Amino acid sequence: MTQSQKKPLVCDTCGKESEHLRRDVVDEGYNALSKPPMWNCDACYDEKRRRRQGQSASQ
Ligand SMILES: [Zn+2]
Repeated sequence: MTQSQKKPLVCDTCGKESEHLRRDVVDEGYNALSKPPMWNCDACYDEKRRRRQGQSASQ
């Protein structure tokens, strides 16, 4: 069983390698069929989510 190569997971936002990446849903109108998914590490995912919530909540 030498075919199972683990390719490193790299955050699409900061470029940092991470064991776990989250798929980022950019906005509600995001078309996953026409754009490649963005993968983010926990830190970038949290920051993006917080920024999105902050935009819609405070302004
Ligand atoms: Zn990141």
